[in-house]
Amino acid sequence: MIEVKNINKYFYTPEKVHALKDVSTTVEAGEVVVVIGPSGSGKSTFLRCLNRLEYADEGQILIEGVDILDSKTNINKVRADVGMVFQSFNLFPHMSVLENLTIAQQVVRKRGRKEAEKKAMGLLEKVGIHQKSQVYPDQLSGGQQQRVAIARALCMDPKVMLFDEPTSALDPEMIGEVLDVMKTLGKEGMTMVVVTHEMGFAREVADRVMFMDHGAIVEVGTPEHFFVNPENERTKLFLSQIL
Ligand code: ADP
Ligand code: MG
Repeated sequence: MIEVKNINKYFYTPEKVHALKDVSTTVEAGEVVVVIGPSGSGKSTFLRCLNRLEYADEGQILIEGVDILDSKTNINKVRADVGMVFQSFNLFPHMSVLENLTIAQQVVRKRGRKEAEKKAMGLLEKVGIHQKSQVYPDQLSGGQQQRVAIARALCMDPKVMLFDEPTSALDPEMIGEVLDVMKTLGKEGMTMVVVTHEMGFAREVADRVMFMDHGAIVEVGTPEHFFVNPENERTKLFLSQIL
């Protein structure tokens, strides 16, 4: 589903940062990959490259065989196919929940309003907030907003879902409801790449865990491998700090 070949990413503001160093990996269809690593290790940059929110300077990224770095590739289609959920929800504040879920369906997927609303209501039901379809995002709790954000991405029938620390901005009592929605998605066969510090989620849902440090993938393995027998010294140090 995803093939990443030797990508490098640099930032030049204010000084030169080599944010991704020759990163290569593959993600199979239906796989859940959890990315862990210290702050500043390149996890967000890696995710953002996968839907071209950041443009990798070198290398190749194929999503179902489509080279997303090719200038001929339709970037709006890539972003619809590769859904993303952010730490900070990023809902449109001036639109109702329902409008948040229908706008891109109409503009990017060219669906009629009725069809888009039907799809939206079905997905709101799936994430357990269909009774809130007419309210504005600021009338919802953080956990509800994040579930709306997940439903919004799912409205596009994405091939892949990316999650960048989706529960890090939530009050503790709301983390579970968002993780439950993600768990269900993973079990249903959605291809997912998830940056998170929720090690319970990693243990239970991940097919593979990927540890990043200083812009590189340092170690990849099953959750059992990571939580029982990590090999790399930096992995061991990181896990000892967060577990
Ligand atoms: P993580 O998500 O693991 O905390 P990031 O991918 O956000 O790490 O950052 C990786 C590195 O790239 C860090 O050194 C960070 O400061 C730098 N970086 C990320 N985004 C930008 C940007 N837009 N401009 C400049 N530097 C950035
Ligand atoms: Mg980050």
